[in-house]
Amino acid sequence: MTTQQVLVFIGPPGAGKGSISRICQDRLQWKKISTGDLCRKHIYEQTEIGKEIDFAIKSGKLVDDTLITEMVAKWLENQEKGGSIIFDGYPRTVVQATLFEKLIKSKFPSLKVTVIRLTLSDEEVIARLSTRYVCQNKECQQVYSIRSSAFAPRKENECDSCGHQIGRRSDDMPEAIEERLKGYYNHEQALIDLYTQKGYIIPEVDMNQPIEKIFTILRDMMEGKA
Ligand code: ADP
Repeated sequence: MTTQQVLVFIGPPGAGKGSISRICQDRLQWKKISTGDLCRKHIYEQTEIGKEIDFAIKSGKLVDDTLITEMVAKWLENQEKGGSIIFDGYPRTVVQATLFEKLIKSKFPSLKVTVIRLTLSDEEVIARLSTRYVCQNKECQQVYSIRSSAFAPRKENECDSCGHQIGRRSDDMPEAIEERLKGYYNHEQALIDLYTQKGYIIPEVDMNQPIEKIFTILRDMMEGKA
């Protein structure tokens, strides 16, 4: 059985998980699943799940562990085999990590998980989220920043990838940012402890450095494992 690499990022909101994942998708043809993007798509399409999770998302709270895991299972079922997969924003709690492990064992035994911790100071997180813009096309959701020319859209208010309008996320407002950061730190250490107990070595990547450098570090880490 050939193994398929899965990259799990543990890192605060705004660390740049989405941005670096996008680069790895474009340049290395890795696949990416963002549970945040999946949630926002449900809300936009006003599905039953979307109606259920709308409030949690807007207020920066986490969505139910089982529900999120079901979304992940469904996404995995629809993927063709092969290529590395980046998990952006899942698992984020010990319960999710445990459910994910069960899911892999029972249905996707060829997946091999690597866990990487992404670090960034709270001040930088807040500065990034407060200046973040996201493509409003729910199939795209590309991330931009008006703070850094490296991440600004080429045309004002327009997504480089699909041409849709870009805008702010409802949970990138100060109260929700605070709630998300608090939520992240509530789970971070327990998640790291769980993976460490299971024998994972968790390398750290400082996200406060040029994105090209981060890309090289991640690519080299994953090539070492290929
Ligand atoms: P960020 O990591 O920047 O907070 P995401 O786009 O990853 O943003 O997630 C946005 C929101 O989607 C979260 O605040 C939460 O409500 C929901 N969400 C995403 N992933 C998960 C998850 N694994 N478990 C629970 N809720 C999640």
